Amino acid sequence: MEEVFYMENGEYWNPILETMPREKLQKLQLKKFREIFTWAYEHSKFYHKLYSDAGIEPGDIQRFEDIKKVPKIEKSMMRHVQGPGKDNFPYGDILAVPLEKVTDYRQTSGTTGQPIYQADTWQDWELGTEAYCYAMWAQGYRPGERIFLPFGYNIFVAFWAYHYAGEKIGCEVIPGGVLNTEARILKMQELKATAMGATPTYVLGMAETARNMGIDPPKDLYIRRITVAGEPGGSIPATLKRMEDAWGAKVYDEVGSTEIGHWGWQCLHQAGLHVNEGMYLVEIEDVNTGETIDEPGRRGKMVVTTFGRMAQPCIRFDVKDLIQWNADKCDCGRTFRLLKGGIQGRADDITKVKGVLLSPMAIEEVVRAIPQLGNEYQVVVTKKGDIDDITLKVEVLAEYKNDEAAIKTKLTDQLRLKTNLGYNIEFHEYESLPRSQSKSRRFQDLRPH
Ligand SMILES: [Zn+2]
Repeated sequence: MEEVFYMENGEYWNPILETMPREKLQKLQLKKFREIFTWAYEHSKFYHKLYSDAGIEPGDIQRFEDIKKVPKIEKSMMRHVQGPGKDNFPYGDILAVPLEKVTDYRQTSGTTGQPIYQADTWQDWELGTEAYCYAMWAQGYRPGERIFLPFGYNIFVAFWAYHYAGEKIGCEVIPGGVLNTEARILKMQELKATAMGATPTYVLGMAETARNMGIDPPKDLYIRRITVAGEPGGSIPATLKRMEDAWGAKVYDEVGSTEIGHWGWQCLHQAGLHVNEGMYLVEIEDVNTGETIDEPGRRGKMVVTTFGRMAQPCIRFDVKDLIQWNADKCDCGRTFRLLKGGIQGRADDITKVKGVLLSPMAIEEVVRAIPQLGNEYQVVVTKKGDIDDITLKVEVLAEYKNDEAAIKTKLTDQLRLKTNLGYNIEFHEYESLPRSQSKSRRFQDLRPH
């Protein structure tokens, strides 16, 4: 079925695949699942042991429901087999191809522990690019688009596929690494770049920098299309609106990770994240019971399988991201299912504060919806005696300095409504909170554990 993915007419819109009836699509997914399962069982020591111990083998996967019997993997399991002193350094015995077939190294950022080392063959890498092509095509990228990449290429996976996919679609790609933010903005202006890809934090930060240089992005730059990835902002309505207003551009979310690939994206209609169900299997499980959630509107954790990635297979990966299906059909005509509100935080991120479950994303939604506040904010949770204490630090724009009391009331009310908690609000001068160019860490839990 590979011909389904590799388009020969130069288009990355495949009506046969992308509007396939669910029943037929599930048959295709079952076939692809069985292929990667068999490959891993036969070629990866790690997977072979995992499946043998569970008493499951390729012949046991006959119906779509059988997929559920396959043991899940977690980050910690990969970490355990990788590193110094282990086979196939640094990848470990999860590797399912001979070491000399590996052409690409990437690693995770390691924000939750020792990084995961990720191996790809050239074919794997091409497949990942292919997946990104579908995202960009759905977001309106076509030959003639002039893409600027305000990103330093490095060991992290971020935006490599955007670069390659841009070229593959026929766009013109300008690498903007090494330059600082000011130089990038001037280069984008000089070359009249029409699109870019970056993290939401950087998209907002660049607009701030541009304005400080006397450049108003909607008027003085030519960017009309932005793809964001790496953070949830693209699917948080208030953050999305801020980015679109700051640039006078349409902003589209794309989701993926080092271990999985580029599994989801917003199309031009921005109705939610489409899951690329031709290349990935996304399952949603109840966090407590593990029961499969197929109905819209119920949140659970994502379990994902990447089809066809051979060097370091990703099969039933328990990502711990929280997602839910959207009942709506998208006007673009795709039958690839939609997720409502993108990734709604991580199961790990949801912390209990004063006995209430708190998702940092809910705070972002409130802060970014108040126009008198800057983009940056910080949340610090501490303990005063036995009682949890939350401080929210926000920046107030210089022209609203005298309105702090009214803003505080609005913030307090909205936070109470959305998160059910009370906060100490601290106002800081505009641009005084720390900025970061990559995954920002705005939530600090300083309570003793
Ligand atoms: Zn759509």
